[in-house]
Amino acid sequence: MASESLPRVAYFCMEYALQNDFKTYAGGLGILAGDYLKGAKDHGFPIVGIGIKWKQGYTDQIIGRDGRPVDTYPVYQYPFLKDTGVTVSVTIRKREVKCKVWLCDEFGNAPLYLLDTDLPENEDSWICGQLYGWFGEERIAQEMVLGVGGVRALRALNIPVDVYHFNEGHALFAGFELVREKIAAGQSFNDALAATRNEIVFTTHTPVIQGNESHYLDRLMYMGADLGVFSRKQLNELGGRPFNMTVGALRLSRKANAVAQLHGVTANKMWQDVSGRAEIIAITNAIHIPTWVDQRMITAATEGTGDLWTLHQENKQALIDFVADRTGVKLKPDSLLIGFSRRAVAYKRSDLIFRDPGLTDKFFQSGELQIIFSGKAHPLDDSGKSIVANLVAMTKKYPGSVVFLENYDMTIGSMLVRGADVWLNNPRRPQEASGTSGMKAAMNGVLNLSVLDGWWPEACQHGVNGWQIGDGYEDKDEKKLDEHDMKALHDVLLNEVMPTYYNNKEKWVEMMKQSILTTYEKFAMKRMLEEYYELLYR
Ligand SMILES: *Cc1c(COP(=O)(O)O)cnc(C)c1O
Repeated sequence: MASESLPRVAYFCMEYALQNDFKTYAGGLGILAGDYLKGAKDHGFPIVGIGIKWKQGYTDQIIGRDGRPVDTYPVYQYPFLKDTGVTVSVTIRKREVKCKVWLCDEFGNAPLYLLDTDLPENEDSWICGQLYGWFGEERIAQEMVLGVGGVRALRALNIPVDVYHFNEGHALFAGFELVREKIAAGQSFNDALAATRNEIVFTTHTPVIQGNESHYLDRLMYMGADLGVFSRKQLNELGGRPFNMTVGALRLSRKANAVAQLHGVTANKMWQDVSGRAEIIAITNAIHIPTWVDQRMITAATEGTGDLWTLHQENKQALIDFVADRTGVKLKPDSLLIGFSRRAVAYKRSDLIFRDPGLTDKFFQSGELQIIFSGKAHPLDDSGKSIVANLVAMTKKYPGSVVFLENYDMTIGSMLVRGADVWLNNPRRPQEASGTSGMKAAMNGVLNLSVLDGWWPEACQHGVNGWQIGDGYEDKDEKKLDEHDMKALHDVLLNEVMPTYYNNKEKWVEMMKQSILTTYEKFAMKRMLEEYYELLYR
């Protein structure tokens, strides 16, 4: 379907989730990038990916004896990667760092080139050690490998590029390299900057200010991220002081996008004071259906072949067996089963359902409510680890009804979004950028129960294809917001979700069908790719 005349895109991202054992991903950003590359392959779009070969991945996070998460870092080998024979150099902290370029074309993805610093000749061979492993200097070094090394790899491999797409601000130094190339070819700084801006598009993700990385100008200069062409003053003009990677990317791209319609509104508000920045449009994320969805569910809903309930019960049983295998807990196939897997951070409020025990305690005791949690905390985030520990404590309080699956990954994710009955999501609005796990669940006939955040306002028909928690209420006072949403959650859970599940199976199955029918096209990767080409790449 795609033609020769489409712009050729190089897509830069710190992480790619292509397959579970390929530990080059941490979470949602990588899931999006992996699904995007698979969609590009499926639909014939001329895209290449640029990333990093992480020696130890993100973290294998298990639960220790004290009930708190413990990080482990096995070293992974990937014999399926092909050696391109290409090595490029990047000067970091005045030392030459060699980056070997690997090709991955194994998992139904468009070509993905991965840079690797783990070479005997490198003094700084650990740069590509751990994904999001360190802050400060090491993070800048990783980003220089991705950005500067990435552009140099494209040149060495002779891959022509029309559009450079940065998925998150991590890739910004690729733009610096594009500027440097043009200055080396004789252009003035301002001409080079303008021409470079014309080649770059940027996807912004995190709607939480603190989540947007920044660096001291001194440190950028010391690392050599200026590439000898940016003065301190010019860096300041681009990204401010300290230098904000998102602000820099917004000013060095011709167009930017947010990852859901509501996120578009939030992102424009958030960055409204940034002068001379790219316009931020909204292109809602999507998923690669063959990776995440039981195709039999879509066929049953669209063509009426097969019984949705029976197929779903099969998937639920598979999840129950998986849980029994991993934890020894035997969940009940005929009791309501909720799935919740999220990165462990406060705004996602994973414990909201427990906060008024008077309301849900008896149902967790009796097993009429069952819930499976999963999710990692960032290795350096102690408060995130306390959130996990609190969930683990709940599994002790309600053994048999509450489960925590350690070391959340693609395997756990795909079991949960197929086999739960309900997919719960209750972040503080509007802090969820998109939330693609909800799309995966919806297309599997797993009903979303979510606050109106991220993608859900675009799909939710309350009581028809899932449920909304509350009414889109927002409040700067977190205590008041939590109180409001907790009441709203209990209200819809106890008065709508549970009665429908236990007393009106016919309606439930009809809702499953509507969940699939209202999402399987709109949130498929094909739609997102087409919008990228129409609204971003042209
Ligand atoms: C889908 C998925 C995500 C992203 O989902 P969110 O809804 O954004 O949290 C993260 N991790 C894994 C393993 C996934 O499968």
